[in-house]
Amino acid sequence: MATCEVCGNDYWMAFEVRTVSGDVHTFDSFECAAHKLAPICEHCQVKIIGHGVEVGGRFFCCAHCARAVESLGAEIRDAVGARPA
Ligand SMILES: [Zn+2]
Ligand SMILES: [Zn+2]
Repeated sequence: MATCEVCGNDYWMAFEVRTVSGDVHTFDSFECAAHKLAPICEHCQVKIIGHGVEVGGRFFCCAHCARAVESLGAEIRDAVGARPA
């Protein structure tokens, strides 16, 4: 058994996440893992759960937010090409 470091739940299916810095964290759910580890969009402050966008070391939830804040993000698009009919 392992205890979630966010909520304290002692759960038999708890799992570990190893970050790029080598730190190891224990969680009972993906929700708790996201609460602790997910980056936050600089523009709208949502937790970035999906791929998100990294521009010059700054994190955004989508291309719109990257374009709004970071000049390097001006070229970023969420989609390419014509909208399907
Ligand atoms: Zn938890
Ligand atoms: Zn955003």
